[in-house]
Amino acid sequence: MIDFDINSSERKRILDFVHVSLEEFYQHTNRLPVAPIVDEEEVKNYAKSLSFDTSNGMEKVLSMVTEGLQKYAVHTAHSGYYGLYNPRINYLSSIADYITAIFNPQLAAWSHAPFANEIERHLVESFGVKLGFDKSSCDGTFCTAGAESNLTAVQCALNHHFPNVFTKGVLSLPKRPLIYCSSESHHSIVKAARTTGLGSDSVRSIAVTDDLSINCNLLKEQIERDIADGYEPFLVVGTAGTTGSGAIDNLEMLADICDIYNMWMHTDAAFGGGAIASGKYAKILKGIERSNSIMLDLHKWFSVPMATSLFLTNDPAILFKTFNIKTSYMPVDGDQVARVDPYLHSIQWSRRFNGLRIFLPLAVFGWSGYDEVITYQIEMGNQLREMLIEDGWEIRNDTQLPVICFSHAQLAGDDDKVSKLVDDVIASGQAWVSTYPVHGALTIRACITNYKTTTEDLKNLINTLKSNLKN
Ligand SMILES: *Cc1c(COP(=O)(O)O)cnc(C)c1O
Repeated sequence: MIDFDINSSERKRILDFVHVSLEEFYQHTNRLPVAPIVDEEEVKNYAKSLSFDTSNGMEKVLSMVTEGLQKYAVHTAHSGYYGLYNPRINYLSSIADYITAIFNPQLAAWSHAPFANEIERHLVESFGVKLGFDKSSCDGTFCTAGAESNLTAVQCALNHHFPNVFTKGVLSLPKRPLIYCSSESHHSIVKAARTTGLGSDSVRSIAVTDDLSINCNLLKEQIERDIADGYEPFLVVGTAGTTGSGAIDNLEMLADICDIYNMWMHTDAAFGGGAIASGKYAKILKGIERSNSIMLDLHKWFSVPMATSLFLTNDPAILFKTFNIKTSYMPVDGDQVARVDPYLHSIQWSRRFNGLRIFLPLAVFGWSGYDEVITYQIEMGNQLREMLIEDGWEIRNDTQLPVICFSHAQLAGDDDKVSKLVDDVIASGQAWVSTYPVHGALTIRACITNYKTTTEDLKNLINTLKSNLKN
């Protein structure tokens, strides 16, 4: 029989082999175009080029994979990538993935992986406290992504407000439950409404003010109208850094509104929550500590690999109340609250040790390391804003996060011209930017998501924009 272990010298050989190509990519990412020009047929054929009907040499297979990833992907690790919060990966997190894969601890039950579970617990508490929650009451869980964290929030809020909903079902509710968020909030909220059976009609999309944050007056009016019309408002989702333009909702005002109407306040701080690590800029998130729950994507600004998000809450019982289920086939752990089994406390069942991805860099560099790196990126954003203005561009959004939506008089408010310019910039291989409509007019959007982006990169971006504007 073949041996899945291969043997010790082969393991060393392929690890060295992979290391060479990973190192080439990691060290010299910027030698590659940020985004390749991909021929669809070519990549489809390439992906199918190895048959499973024969065996293939390890080096051949591994080269095929690393070359494919190098050739056919947008390189978020490139310092000219100004994209949607997909980071360059801090190196230690990649080691975390390898360690986790080899030990493969099963975190579903505490008793199967006590150490890994306690590391995640330590992280949940540390992030909770950092965001302003009380250590004694804060709770949370690692999620695969922001979409799962937001779904967790909707489930918790629903269960908090309607304690029988998960036995009797949403059909049993006398009044339709309503969720409120801004028209700029992330669509994973709508998905969560669908998944929970509330339906997308249960999401009230509230218009934004000039700075693209939720209009709190309209929010209040809508809630009052809905109550009068016989609906049951139960959840307000504030966004601390919208995906589109980095707008931060007025979290204090949202908290006041939630107090008045007895609603759950969830803050979606997917990217923007990273600012909490910055000694200088954490204040832009003021009010976040008054949330009942917060979601923070570590795979955005904390520079860890995909599938790492945190759901945090200041209600120590809500996760267990929402996800507890009785089984006869899982190991039992006595005191459920002191030593919670993650499978009784979250959406996931089998659970990977994704927390190690943040534990390693945080333990090695400390909060002060993250403070430096995140403050630096905010200031690179400020610098880019200044450089753009100096070069004749107009800034169209208003945020302290490093998310810049801009345009140029020569584009004459023509969306097609904006799209073409962005396509040309991407095709140059020098930078990756995107488009976003701000108050109805398309803008060019550049986000700083890479701790390696320097002033030189920003100059290169401006030059690339300028030369393509002329075309
Ligand atoms: C990215 C993002 C999400 C979704 O998170 P995923 O990790 O992509 O699932 C939700 N909300 C906001 C504001 C985001 O920026």
